[in-house]
Amino acid sequence: MKVVALAGGVGGARLAAGLQEALPAGDLTVVVNTADDFELWGLYISPDLDTVMYTLAGLENPETGWGIRGDTFFSLEMLGRYGEDTWFLLGDRDMATHILRTVRLKEGRTPTEVAAGLAGALGVPARLLPMCDERVSTVVETPGGPLEFQEYFVRRGQRDEVLGVSFRGIERARPTPAVREALASAGLIVLCPSNPVVSIGPILAVPGMKEALCGSRAPKVAVSPLVGGRALKGPADRMLLSLGHEPSARGVARLYRGLVDGMVIDRVDEDEREDIEGLGMEVLATDAVMRGAEDRARLAREVLGFGRGLGR
Ligand code: GDP
Ligand code: CA
Repeated sequence: MKVVALAGGVGGARLAAGLQEALPAGDLTVVVNTADDFELWGLYISPDLDTVMYTLAGLENPETGWGIRGDTFFSLEMLGRYGEDTWFLLGDRDMATHILRTVRLKEGRTPTEVAAGLAGALGVPARLLPMCDERVSTVVETPGGPLEFQEYFVRRGQRDEVLGVSFRGIERARPTPAVREALASAGLIVLCPSNPVVSIGPILAVPGMKEALCGSRAPKVAVSPLVGGRALKGPADRMLLSLGHEPSARGVARLYRGLVDGMVIDRVDEDEREDIEGLGMEVLATDAVMRGAEDRARLAREVLGFGRGLGR
């Protein structure tokens, strides 16, 4: 069965890795958020794509969730000696990815082609697709004014209250032919446990994406990134709250209402089951926390089984 997973960074990468392990090679396509992308020292950086790629290649750093395991930071240190502000951590090996991506894009390849080339060279069995080939940038509205996404997320450590989120350039974006084709031939679509506002949000906001999703006959399953009312990593809980949503699995389900047929939640949120079912979704309550490779594979198998059942 062909499966398409929509993913942001760390949470999405974890489930995608489980799905990749549970499925025959070539059956998984991961559509990744690229609204976090930005440029630094002339390098084009695609943080979510790289997190997913490194995780699917088995190169991920389990402590941080991003970057490459065992990477060193000599280049960054040297940039610091030149007086550069080194707020965004870039490892030496990671830097090679950004150098090559930048070169390939300058040569005129599309982000889709570049992502396929990099992931292929690392031996990733899954297909990795940027959500679109156009440049989209998340802007976070805060009490102090608008911030570029990485400015908010990394430089300022997510300390600002989020009053609004917008995706600059999104009106010109379109799902790529590769994304459309993958969605049209999918037997199951999975919304990974990624931040619903700034990771899954931009993917769904690409004009034509929701139509392509709804046009696919595949059942759609979302895995809640919130467990017991909290994000396991990052600001998703605080962000939902300040944007007027409930920071819970139920709150996430409300955001996906009308799009998703089934919701996977953690057992600790079993008391939200009825409300979520009331939104017209089926619910699977299980252990939704992925502590390691075994958990990822187990949760992925459960998601696949649940999704197949929804298709009947
Ligand atoms: P990032 O912020 O760019 O790394 O990307 P994501 O949006 O993909 O990841 C952050 C989200 O992943 C957070 O909301 C976490 O709660 C969620 N997450 C991380 N690990 C897990 C996990 O093991 N299980 C579940 N259910 N969610 C997770
Ligand atoms: Ca991200």
